[in-house]
Amino acid sequence: MLVWAAVVTIAPAGVISTLPDKVPPVVPDRQDFQVPDRVRLTGWVGARIDVNESNRLVKLDAARLLEGYRKRPGRQSWDGEHVGKWLHAATLAWANTGDPALREKLDDVAAELVKCQLADGYLGTYLDKDRWTQWDVWAHKYNLIGLITYMRYTGNVEPMPACRRMADLLCKTFGDAPGQLDIIKAGQHKGMAPTSVLEPMVLLYRLTGEPRYLDFCKYILRAWDHPKGPKIISTLLKAKRVDKVGNAKAYEMLSCLNGVLEFYRTTGDPKMLEACLNAWRDIVKNRLYLTGAASYGEFFRDDFDLPNVSNVGETCVTVTWLQFNAQLLRLTGEARFADQLERVVLNQLFGAQRCDGSAWGYYVQMEGKKPYSGTLDGHCCLSSGPRGVALIPTFATSTDADGVVVNLYDAGTARLNLRDGMAVTLTTVTRYPGEEGIAITVDPAEKKLFAVKLRIPSWCSSASVQVNGKTVKPQHGRDGYAAISRKWDRGDRIELQLKLEPRVVVGDHKNQGKVAVLYGPLVLAADAALLGDQDGRLAAVSAAGNSLDKLGVAPEPAPELVRSWAGARVFRVNAIARKPAGNLQAGAPFQVRLIPFADAGGTGSSYKVWLPLGLASTNGNVLLDGNESRSRMGNIGDSIIDGNPRSFVVTLSEKLPAEDWFAVTLDEPAAITRVVFVHGSTFHNGGWFDTSAAKPRVQVKTALDGKWEDAGELKDYPATTSQNPAGLKGGERFSCRLASPMNAIAVRVAGKPASGDNPRVAFSSCAELEAFADKP
Ligand SMILES: [Zn+2]
Repeated sequence: MLVWAAVVTIAPAGVISTLPDKVPPVVPDRQDFQVPDRVRLTGWVGARIDVNESNRLVKLDAARLLEGYRKRPGRQSWDGEHVGKWLHAATLAWANTGDPALREKLDDVAAELVKCQLADGYLGTYLDKDRWTQWDVWAHKYNLIGLITYMRYTGNVEPMPACRRMADLLCKTFGDAPGQLDIIKAGQHKGMAPTSVLEPMVLLYRLTGEPRYLDFCKYILRAWDHPKGPKIISTLLKAKRVDKVGNAKAYEMLSCLNGVLEFYRTTGDPKMLEACLNAWRDIVKNRLYLTGAASYGEFFRDDFDLPNVSNVGETCVTVTWLQFNAQLLRLTGEARFADQLERVVLNQLFGAQRCDGSAWGYYVQMEGKKPYSGTLDGHCCLSSGPRGVALIPTFATSTDADGVVVNLYDAGTARLNLRDGMAVTLTTVTRYPGEEGIAITVDPAEKKLFAVKLRIPSWCSSASVQVNGKTVKPQHGRDGYAAISRKWDRGDRIELQLKLEPRVVVGDHKNQGKVAVLYGPLVLAADAALLGDQDGRLAAVSAAGNSLDKLGVAPEPAPELVRSWAGARVFRVNAIARKPAGNLQAGAPFQVRLIPFADAGGTGSSYKVWLPLGLASTNGNVLLDGNESRSRMGNIGDSIIDGNPRSFVVTLSEKLPAEDWFAVTLDEPAAITRVVFVHGSTFHNGGWFDTSAAKPRVQVKTALDGKWEDAGELKDYPATTSQNPAGLKGGERFSCRLASPMNAIAVRVAGKPASGDNPRVAFSSCAELEAFADKP
């Protein structure tokens, strides 16, 4: 028996030659993205890429990926998407590391998936009678993306006939001709889900040269303007707002736009690029969170409607937004898209990936807890996140007509070829973004004149560049890069200093009265794990002011508990207690250490990006300084004592309990005469109390070890049922006057959770629980 060493060092992959297209693009790429075997990153970014492969992609259960195909119809309606997404991510990861175990798994999954194809070409998870109703065109899209990526990088074209049969079935089934189905009606979100198959159909057209695949793509573009179609291009050209496109569903729309850019590359229709640039400008200007998240509740919303909680930051949206920027960077060669890539990768994408790579978050919000999960069940995002991370080596460093381009700064090596074929290796030593020095050694095969283009991030107020110890003035090009053109020789050394500075963003719109602190490219957050005690103290953190002077931001090495990589930093900031907490009086100054959003909540703790200013309102709510709890933790964990009726908690879990409760316990008893319950949010599958048998009850404890006593009920709470929320809106207040004043040590509201449209689960929600001692 062979015994393997505990640590297997994997040799870098040989130079992979990708499968060539039969039809070359009409629009040549401005930047040449790299096959991932050329770029090996070893800093913070590299560590996240490595664990994505070793702790996630290699370990995913192949039988689970194929289950819905082997036993149709699968666990849920979109179960078919996971295997194609895995094939895409795992192929890129294998190309990066050359890991033979991953390659073996790839070969196996690709072959087994193909075996599941039906005789007519169908490769979805639906029963015959349910075909083309919801998410099975969508599954074909991901199977095509996965298998095309697999063929492209491995050179194994065995799945090609299966891909052609899938595409032929789509061409035969959908179209304008008599007897064909309307693809808009074949899936969700005004047809944006099924028509996002545009992207791989363009890719397959270029790979095979089959004209009917391009015709099918043109049919999709026509179908978008059908009376019930999403009108993607026409709306973006006219209204120039993504929230007016289709039903504004972000993941599906961005998936379509990624296909539009592939179509533009292939055909050169300038309207396609114009529509996408309009979408990009609109998102960046009006709909983007600091961290690079771009939606809440999975939809693009009105201008600046960016709450910190409310299912913010679906990871599928994060990844398709990343892909959209990567496509635009390839096509235009403009640094502004690479700036957005840095923002989304270092903040929202890494914020959604658990630091050890083993799990992903679905919604990764601006505050709360990271909802990491290691399974795939019910979670589109859990197979999307790894795709985003696996794509990083393709764009971190690239080449263009002038030379080489550095888009992301991380330690490591890039073995590139200039367009004339000459090899250039870049070796980077840095602890960026923990430290500001970036040393890049340039090793061309022979001495030669070309440009090294450096991205000076838009947040960076001061950058300096030296070559071989001498300060140089780079040429700032129209593409937004700082170019150093010279005859580069082996061992030439660039030293780039990107001044890392704190920045304060003063909140507007939904974050009025709050500030966020950034450091270089990193969005920072307060984290209960660094506050020295229980979650209670996080709610007591107020920023000491809205200027750098008052905040006094000071970086220091991260303590062991949160030290996710060698250069990890935390950031000491002046705070005041917005309410009493532990030994702190309200208003007392203290210091907190902020942590990058990417690592925030990594220990399971609560975190918060936007920090309030000033003291908590003293409106007489005696529960504001208490400790909250609830019957079930649920999957949205905000606070019911933060004075913010927009942030809420839910009890959602896969259970059907008879009762839920939301409670606040005090350190000292307080006299109360009135209790107020603020409803959290109404979801399609629950979130309210079912009052068909009884109204929600207010209960009080007068001693810590005492029993809960019924103190009244929420009489004004509407007459709901388990299915019908009776118009209940998030933030609605319901008051209960106690029959007589009570000396409460704890208060709670209890009731029966509602099921909405999913009879298998029931849950309720709460935004605030308040209690007052009204004057008689
Ligand atoms: Zn998702």
